Amino acid sequence: MAEINEVIGVVGKAVIAQKEFLTALDQAIGDGDHGINMARGFEAVEKKLEVLGEGEDIGAVLKTVGMTLISSVGGAAGPLYGTAFMRAAVPATGKFALDVDTAEQMIAAAVKGIQDRGKAVKGEKTMLDVFIPVHECFIEGKEKGKSLLECLEASVKAAEDGVEYTKTIIATKGRASYVGERSIGHQDAGATSLTVMIKALYDYYK
Ligand code: ADP
Ligand code: MG
Ligand code: MG
Repeated sequence: MAEINEVIGVVGKAVIAQKEFLTALDQAIGDGDHGINMARGFEAVEKKLEVLGEGEDIGAVLKTVGMTLISSVGGAAGPLYGTAFMRAAVPATGKFALDVDTAEQMIAAAVKGIQDRGKAVKGEKTMLDVFIPVHECFIEGKEKGKSLLECLEASVKAAEDGVEYTKTIIATKGRASYVGERSIGHQDAGATSLTVMIKALYDYYK
């Protein structure tokens, strides 16, 4: 199977497997649908990729993933993750394998896409509290000539630290911002779903 199709399949399965957990996290400080939203999205992606077939470049596959997430997920996470995948597709156009340079450009584009759409910065208890540190791992990896696997290994650690960090801060974006101070002590659902994806990527490449 084409590597990128397989990678998306693995990432999707990991997210679907955490459906209950992600929903429970969102229940504590949001509206309790994050796991349901994400599972619905990646189930739709699975079906879409069957139709798309293999042999497409990474850019084409990620563009399809992004459009599918936007049209099937709903809520805040759908447009945000959808935009992230669509933007990440651009530097991956014409590529069939991932390398650190391309991955860094893809993550930069994804983070910018999330920020263009959601207007959040680091420290607002969102998926960006994981994505920005992960991007930093790839910038460092690029500078130091690390392998993709080494970058992913560092990213898993950075993502886990990012999730822990979200427990310590107040949500100022998204639905969790409605509960204000009460959001302290709870980890962010979107930061967690992103961490699930990064771990799945690491497990795939290791
Ligand atoms: P909704 O909040 O509409 O029910 P979800 O529950 O699926 O959507 O997704 C919530 C997650 O989306 C949050 O945990 C957070 O990580 C992320 N999120 C919400 N608003 C923003 C934003 N403005 N920027 C980045 N991420 C955000
Ligand atoms: Mg929600
Ligand atoms: Mg919702």
